[in-house]
Amino acid sequence: MWSNMYRPDKPQVKKRVNWRRIGLLFAPYWRQETLVLACIVVSAIVGLAPAYLISRIIDTAIPGGNFRELALDVGLMLAAAVLTMLFSVVQGFLNSIVGEGIMRDMRTSLVSHLHKMPLNFFTGTKTGEIMNRVSNDVDNIDNVVTGTLTTLLTNFITIATTVVWMFVWNWRLALLSIAIVPLMVLPLAPVGRRMYEIRRKTREKRDEIESITQETLSISGITLIKSFAREAYEHSRFYRVGTDLMNLEVNLAMVGRWFIAAITAMVIIGPAVVWLGGGWLALQHTLAIGVVVAFVQYIQGRLYGPAASLAGIQVQIVSALAVFERIFDYLDMTPEEYAPPQALALENVRGDIAFDDVTFGYNETRTALRGISLHVAPGQLAAFVGPSGAGKTTITQLVPRFYDPQQGRVLIDGHDVRSLTLESLRRDIGIVTQETYLFHDTIGNNLRYAKPDASVEQVQAAARAANIHDFIASLPEGYDTVVGERGHKLSGGERQRLAIARVLLKNPKILILDEATSALDSHNEAAIQAALVPLMRGRTSLVIAHRLSTILSADVIFVIEDGRVVESGTHAVLLARNGEYARLYRKQFRDEARSIASSP
Ligand code: ATP
Repeated sequence: MWSNMYRPDKPQVKKRVNWRRIGLLFAPYWRQETLVLACIVVSAIVGLAPAYLISRIIDTAIPGGNFRELALDVGLMLAAAVLTMLFSVVQGFLNSIVGEGIMRDMRTSLVSHLHKMPLNFFTGTKTGEIMNRVSNDVDNIDNVVTGTLTTLLTNFITIATTVVWMFVWNWRLALLSIAIVPLMVLPLAPVGRRMYEIRRKTREKRDEIESITQETLSISGITLIKSFAREAYEHSRFYRVGTDLMNLEVNLAMVGRWFIAAITAMVIIGPAVVWLGGGWLALQHTLAIGVVVAFVQYIQGRLYGPAASLAGIQVQIVSALAVFERIFDYLDMTPEEYAPPQALALENVRGDIAFDDVTFGYNETRTALRGISLHVAPGQLAAFVGPSGAGKTTITQLVPRFYDPQQGRVLIDGHDVRSLTLESLRRDIGIVTQETYLFHDTIGNNLRYAKPDASVEQVQAAARAANIHDFIASLPEGYDTVVGERGHKLSGGERQRLAIARVLLKNPKILILDEATSALDSHNEAAIQAALVPLMRGRTSLVIAHRLSTILSADVIFVIEDGRVVESGTHAVLLARNGEYARLYRKQFRDEARSIASSP
């Protein structure tokens, strides 16, 4: 069972970057890529012309005193420049389409994949790290795709056309020109490895920075910092990580600088060698001087430059691998199985829930539930009570398959939940937790999240039933009021009633409710209690109970302790048994019962 889940405490098996997999990202854009290739080939050939024309000017037009030929050569040079410019614009446009398209594809598949990851992935991973992969890492891919790949092709084709043409024109000078190239390329392998390492570390540091930023700048985080007056600590923590990143970046820049300095030296030495050899041949009158000038132009502009850039690209590609690796790592994580083969789509749910000897642990070291067996009949209200950490929430989370048990079965209407499609299973389960989550959007849109096609009347009816309509109507912008990040512009009670209205709109057969432990004022309390009545009507409700009224009206109460059901039955039966429940009741609920009894 563990094998099919993401385990945050165990690193995932690392796979090497697969070139074929990277190549496949380009597949949908093959038309644009073909055109880019055509542009590059034509530009590379056209680019050979200017230096050749220079040699004609030096060796023929000027010595022959032929102005017409001079003008023609210059005209052709200008035409070549204009053509190259046009091709580069078209190429830039096509490259943007490919680069941006691949980024969109990667980002979408990454986010969709993450949406399908099980909950324990998110509890075990820092949000900042996830954000960093989705935004920064994907953005980095753009550099590789638009910049690196085109540069690779352009330089390769430029070098190939130039070398062929140089050999055709003068093989001896051509040999001399390329002799120095290996000297430039050989030292690059270790540099590449070093850059790859540093870049990998840089990314990890950025993850850390993003995590700290996310945590400390969230509303809950900043409240915590302020309430403990830990600003100075947070400052020094952030400064420390920032310094680590700074050092890494400086290292990276230095490795790059040395590399560029070495290449620059070669670009000076190379032409000097050609001048020496070519000049000597010219002195022997076996070579026209214009040819030497043209060759020096070729090697500077079309040989060493592109070769240096190719070598640099090798470095870039190697570092880019780190980015692909990180993204593929995420894409390779096993997601929840939404519709396993032969999965059943649950129809006309009655809401019969059973646990059959269920054992579950969030990790191998600790068991949260041990051999839980229970049954809740359709339409019943089942209350779960027990000390903190007993496993009440965990039980309710196994019903919508937020987690799967390692042993035993969870059944809905007699079907093992693992045999159902997740979509059909979750469609019929409504959840209201203590921590109500609202999107930074209007109240209306937050409610419609449960039922996008709900009419205005339906939305308002749900809000009325949840006792929140009057409050919404009293706001200047009514249902168009934006609730603020996570709904922080609303009170806890208001948020919870909105969550109830949202579930009412969804209208599920099974309801999971975690009652708020925090004391609400009597008005909010009464409003929520009233909202819960329509919420539970006609549904099977599993309630983690913190209110006396809930346990009194429950059809069955399950007392959970240390991951086990230690007692079950109605309030009266359990109280009469004078066991765990009676003890818990006396401790937790009797004061509440007394205060209700004594209130006028
Ligand atoms: P409370 O009333 O305080 O909410 P509970 O009865 O609902 O408690 P659970 O939240 O079900 O208890 O937790 C049961 C046990 O599982 C606890 O020991 C808790 O520490 C552990 N636990 C809960 N969630 C996780 C998680 N995501 N990863 C690892 N352990 C967890």
